[in-house]
Amino acid sequence: MSDSTAPRYAEVYRRSVESPEAFWAEQAQWIDWRQPWRQVLDASRPPFAPWFPGGLTNLCHNAVDRHLEHRAEQAALIYVSTETGIETRFSYAQLHREVQIMAASLQALGVEQGDRVLIYMPMIPEAVFAMLACVRIGAVHSVVFGGFASVSLAARIEDAQPKVIVSADAGSRGGKAVPYKPLLDAALQQAQHQPQHVLIVDRGLVGWSRQQPRDVSYAELRVRHAQAQVPCVWVDATHPSYILYTSGTTGKPKGVQRDTGGYAVALHMSMRLIFGGKPGETFFSTSDIGWVVGHSYIVYAPLLVGMTTILYEGTPIRPDAAVFWRIIEQYRANLLFSAPTAMRVLKRHDPALLHRHDLSSLRAIFLAGEPLDEPTGSWVAQSLGKPVIDNYWQTETGWPMLATPQAFPEVAARPGSPGVPMPGYKVCLRNETDGAAVAVGEKGVLAVDWPLPPGCLQTVWGDDARFQHTYWSTYPNLQVYSTFDWGRQDADGYYTILGRTDDVINVAGHRLGTREIEECISAHPAVAEVAVVGVQDALKGQAAWAFVVLRPAAEALDAASQQDAIAAHVNATLGAVARPQRICLVTALPKTRSGKMLRRAIQAICEGRDPGDLSTLEDPLALQQIPDAIART
Ligand code: ATP
Ligand code: MG
Repeated sequence: MSDSTAPRYAEVYRRSVESPEAFWAEQAQWIDWRQPWRQVLDASRPPFAPWFPGGLTNLCHNAVDRHLEHRAEQAALIYVSTETGIETRFSYAQLHREVQIMAASLQALGVEQGDRVLIYMPMIPEAVFAMLACVRIGAVHSVVFGGFASVSLAARIEDAQPKVIVSADAGSRGGKAVPYKPLLDAALQQAQHQPQHVLIVDRGLVGWSRQQPRDVSYAELRVRHAQAQVPCVWVDATHPSYILYTSGTTGKPKGVQRDTGGYAVALHMSMRLIFGGKPGETFFSTSDIGWVVGHSYIVYAPLLVGMTTILYEGTPIRPDAAVFWRIIEQYRANLLFSAPTAMRVLKRHDPALLHRHDLSSLRAIFLAGEPLDEPTGSWVAQSLGKPVIDNYWQTETGWPMLATPQAFPEVAARPGSPGVPMPGYKVCLRNETDGAAVAVGEKGVLAVDWPLPPGCLQTVWGDDARFQHTYWSTYPNLQVYSTFDWGRQDADGYYTILGRTDDVINVAGHRLGTREIEECISAHPAVAEVAVVGVQDALKGQAAWAFVVLRPAAEALDAASQQDAIAAHVNATLGAVARPQRICLVTALPKTRSGKMLRRAIQAICEGRDPGDLSTLEDPLALQQIPDAIART
């Protein structure tokens, strides 16, 4: 920002937390309202924080209809599938038409305001149409990641109780069709709750069996409703727009319930101030619509601002590891949002691929979802010559809590830190036991004082008690939201995330963070990647076991001496208590498709327990080799 009179970060942030109602009322001007709100914030019932009650608005109107006047012919959605070779462009006018056809189809199947619609879909345009169609008519969508198998799907059907399920014949992964309908049918056999209808988008990838009259083919409804006019249903700002289940990294997934008005206001602000996205520009998020990043930054935020969004079906390495860069060049994408895990995958490929395409349109790369290790962050930044912006948030918050906002260039990104608090988040690091604020440089639980800003979870779907108990009861005398992550703040106000509070293990009375042990081990030159878990131990309570992937150069060396060297390194750095009892060598670590380490599953195997739901596991071999790796130590 060259304008020296423009407000600076410190001023904007201070205003957002000191005068939240004035700040958010101003931000709300960027959204169309059918009727103004009664109050900016209803503070009568903490920890609940209804934003803009009484205000009438509609997410689909704000994301689609209102752009028709000036951007009807601009691309709204660009669909790229390297799985099927299909690339399609939908202008705002075309998107408007498609969403109305889908909305009319859902209405024909009985969907009304407040009904839930479960969307179990691959990354195809109809998935986006279905989301927008739901919010258009006031229905509540619940997108379930297409990689989930029947058990996980059944649990979400049971919890969300959808009237209609929208699905497809199949997804595709690595060029192979993955039939969805049999998984859905199996889930419906397990679930007590039954939807009235299942709407199937037939991609022609595989055959599917149709159960009459429950199952309906979208192709048939699409023809019938081709010219449908479906007006937006104006809903209260506090009307739920969707339910999205958390990743389940730490246990039973929580149904995050999002509102309508606050979410629209917060996402619009985040796209402008945090990401620096402008109307007419192109945003490319490589996430999946099944995750929160997909909801907020594939679908809603880019469209709310009038940008073009890219919907990508494919992997980061097919047809080759330059596919992201090819898409950016071809569609002149301005901003990329991806995950550290995707960058680590690219790091294993030929670096020349990073320079094959013209990336002059690209301004910045945003990475989130897990800790961004310094080597990977620097590698991306240096290889591409573009700023890499780490940002920290949760399914619960819906948009970044910590970042270095693009609108305030005086806040420079720092390797190893996701940055500073974003507007509206009263972030405070607290002592684990009494909730007292910790000093600068000290480790504390990352917490946020009530109220959470607009756009964050309203409650846990159907379970206010779980919402209050899970997130707000850590410190009985304080009204604070716990993230269950550890953090540290430096003297300049930058935060570092030190892992999850339940990743703490207790070894002979010493409380150790597995993430700290992991960081220490990964700094050893022979180590490519590591996961540390706490395993029950009759003598010490728990013992740390490390699962290590060696770098290619170190793999050739003698395993025992590598293990000794790593143990000695931990001894020297963190002390003997932190030294893992076992160091097991593996060739890969089990992760979810969204790149999150499945420590819970590793730990279960170490303790001889059932690892539980593994349907999002990226690479089954990574888990299968664990017993052998343990046996070899
Ligand atoms: P569950 O809550 O069901 O166990 P989950 O926490 O893995 O699942 P998400 O909401 O997808 O589900 O992930 C949010 C978590 O991811 C954060 O609480 C944090 O632990 C981690 N995380 C996200 N972004 C970052 C980041 N930039 N740096 C470090 N950790 C991050
Ligand atoms: Mg979580």
